[in-house]
Amino acid sequence: MFKRRGIMLILSSPSGAGKTSISRTIMQQDDNIKLSVSVTTRPKRANEVDGVDYHFRSVDDFKHLVERGEMLEWAEVHGNYYGTPKAQIQDQLEAGTDVLFDIDYQGALQLYENCADDIVGIFVLPPSIKELKHRLERRADDNAEVINRRLKTARKELKAWEKYDYIIVNNDLGESCKTVSEIISAARIHSSRQADLPQFIKGLQEELESIIE
Ligand code: 5GP
Repeated sequence: MFKRRGIMLILSSPSGAGKTSISRTIMQQDDNIKLSVSVTTRPKRANEVDGVDYHFRSVDDFKHLVERGEMLEWAEVHGNYYGTPKAQIQDQLEAGTDVLFDIDYQGALQLYENCADDIVGIFVLPPSIKELKHRLERRADDNAEVINRRLKTARKELKAWEKYDYIIVNNDLGESCKTVSEIISAARIHSSRQADLPQFIKGLQEELESIIE
């Protein structure tokens, strides 16, 4: 109803907890959310498209982007670099478009430090570590060494949960997506985001005064 600023929606989780499936579903369901496409030095997986899933770059190119101040945040995750390019994000937020960030806890902390008022942060947990390992193995994109490295990283990731606004245990993808949608709906009507609200309230107050005898 009111003009509003976009939300920086952060989704983080240990690798394999289902955050990427959730973010894909949310993107399909909601036209007002744009995905922030990260830059990474990780090798492209068979099912991934450059410029859609990630911008795949060399380590040198990545370092240049950081040096030129073109990253909103960046981190080393599982031995590769990942970062969020600054371009367009502020414009999208000002235009009222919500932006989804599928990033790790180190990146989320950087964004919480610099853009706290715009953020809604959701941390997705697996129902169990056994299930997390199964999901990583089922994905079949990564070899045993990579899977083990991802599980080691999960030790640190699990400690970061307190920084986030919301925690979801991903037992069921459909249920988790529904919960994320509900969080987004609530965030959109938060009083702090509705730029025209003071004006609207003033109008209501004036109307009220005009009819009270
Ligand atoms: P994957 O290699 O499985 O696509 O991603 C590995 C991890 O890197 C995930 O936790 C993902 O959320 C995180 N990641 C992806 N893009 C970014 C980014 O731009 N910044 C940060 N800090 N982490 C990212």
